[in-house]
Amino acid sequence: MSEVLDVAKKDGRWVECPSCAEIIITRKLQENLWVCHHCNHHFRLGARDRIGLICDEGSFEELALADHAGDENPEDAIRAGKASVKGMPCLLGVMDFSHKGGSMGVAMGRKIVQLMDAAQETGLPLVFFTASGGVRIHEGIWGLFQMLRTVHARDRITRSPVITVFTDPTTGGVTASFAALADVLLAEPGARIGFAGPRVIQTVLRSELPEDFQNAETLLANGLIDRIVPRRDLRDTLFFFLRWF
Ligand SMILES: [Zn+2]
Repeated sequence: MSEVLDVAKKDGRWVECPSCAEIIITRKLQENLWVCHHCNHHFRLGARDRIGLICDEGSFEELALADHAGDENPEDAIRAGKASVKGMPCLLGVMDFSHKGGSMGVAMGRKIVQLMDAAQETGLPLVFFTASGGVRIHEGIWGLFQMLRTVHARDRITRSPVITVFTDPTTGGVTASFAALADVLLAEPGARIGFAGPRVIQTVLRSELPEDFQNAETLLANGLIDRIVPRRDLRDTLFFFLRWF
């Protein structure tokens, strides 16, 4: 039986939930917006799937890039564009953890700044979906500069609301820079949100960390985020805030 399952998993018909280990039919999972029926685990989504889930069909338009330096790559760890959610227009930055851990390098920093400048110029609300291990550390100091650069650009926005939706995982220099500086901070259930990862902290502290360490629920209880939004309610919640602003 397990071999049959292995084959089925390999060809993509079945998926094993990383949280509860239940085997789920991929089609069913997809119909449930990639949320486990058994334990409510929210599977990580790539940028393309996220855009498909959030935006009105066909409304997402990739941002035209101001310049075409060699590092500009549409397949970078962020997709930046303009879209509408239930008819409400907004600017959208969607990070993709499957692309180099969603790390923020120079190209991503540039796209984020462009989004922020566009928000200031147009007055459109700006929504980020974050999923990142932090700064792209192999870009060295230039990677770290992106924290400063994005925070500085965020500071210039006076006309538009900024909304961050933290998805699993959002850590490092992304949490510690522009992502946490939004006007509204939302998160998907169970998302890990933090700075240093638990393994690093555990090693430094030499003590066991609680199981709910750095998850969205703990952050909400401690007042660091505003609301946890199940994936099926995200479009409605975004619409609520976009209309409100
Ligand atoms: Zn599950």
